[in-house]
Amino acid sequence: MKKATIFIHAGTEPDPSTGAIMTPIYQTSTYVQEAPGVNKGYEYARSQNPTRFALEAAFAAIENGKYGLAFSSGVAATDAVIKLLAPGDEVIAGSDMYGGTYRLFTKIFEKFGIVFKYVNMQHAQTIQEAISPNTKLIWTETPTNPLMNITDIAAVAAIAKANNILLCVDNTFASPYLQNPLDLGADIVMHSATKYLGGHSDVIQGCLVMNDTNLRDQLYFIQKSSGAVPGPQDCFLVLRGIKTLHVRMQRHCENGAKIAQYLRANPKVAKVYWPGFEDHPNHDIARKQMSGFGGMISFELKNDSADETRRVLSSTKIFALAESLGGVESLINHPATMTHASIPREERIKNGLSDHLIRLSVGIEDADDLMADLSQAIGE
Ligand SMILES: *Cc1c(COP(=O)(O)O)cnc(C)c1O
Repeated sequence: MKKATIFIHAGTEPDPSTGAIMTPIYQTSTYVQEAPGVNKGYEYARSQNPTRFALEAAFAAIENGKYGLAFSSGVAATDAVIKLLAPGDEVIAGSDMYGGTYRLFTKIFEKFGIVFKYVNMQHAQTIQEAISPNTKLIWTETPTNPLMNITDIAAVAAIAKANNILLCVDNTFASPYLQNPLDLGADIVMHSATKYLGGHSDVIQGCLVMNDTNLRDQLYFIQKSSGAVPGPQDCFLVLRGIKTLHVRMQRHCENGAKIAQYLRANPKVAKVYWPGFEDHPNHDIARKQMSGFGGMISFELKNDSADETRRVLSSTKIFALAESLGGVESLINHPATMTHASIPREERIKNGLSDHLIRLSVGIEDADDLMADLSQAIGE
């Protein structure tokens, strides 16, 4: 089956008790049992909930995986993956990634003895060189938030396999419509479902998808033991979001391409970060592993003063100044003070994330209206 069909039918069987075509919101904490240990497979809602199970089946289907697990946020999903490890274990992570992931690694898990090494993931060789006998996990994001760098998933998966290391890919920016890391050899795919999967800026949620049964059992054990599960209402919203993911992504890609080209042609703009440009340093890999380039774009102004950056960020009328991304409405964001403020300035600048970088999440409004909005804010 093709993606459009999979996304609409993913995880949803008519409700067995009524035939309801939409999965009901099972708003319950517990289930009545016939006798101790005799039940319908449902005991307590932290461990089992039918709405969540439907969503988890959908996550698996849209990522071409066997198993899906839902979490109460993207960072809770990341947290579960790191809890597979033990003190002394090492993780190789990208030097350019979502600020909240960096904060979780450095401020929470380092003190439990997990060791993190940050490398530039654009060169598979750099990863190879960072491997030690204690390396247990490679964590990569592609495209990266916010610099739109690309990791060659198949190349890194080959290195991970050869060294018996798990590879987890944060696929939030691409969405399963544009990229499927498990097909390229990754062991685990992670999403902030808050973004494109939910798609309507109305829910916080995360997910993991994997093929290995043993890995699924370990992560399910962590999910129920640590307890960061989403409620059934939130699961319903994401199930509903997934049904339109393919049509939304098509428009995000079309609008993203138009805005990237518009920005590049604007004399007030110094640099545009978008993997769809042929001269993007990893364009060939992006083309190979993604079926489109999505709606995320970053750029810098020629006048890179703090005042001018601030003025532009406060001047758009359709693009709303807000953290987050992947919703139907367009957003503008200042990574240095917003989404990536938790990364120390020195570290940020070293990795290429300047104080004047502006990030756009291009929504699915009319592209001409979006370009007109940027024109009136930036000038030409
Ligand atoms: C937002 C985001 C996260 C964290 O997800 P939450 O749902 O906000 O917890 C992780 N990775 C990336 C790339 C993100 O954009």
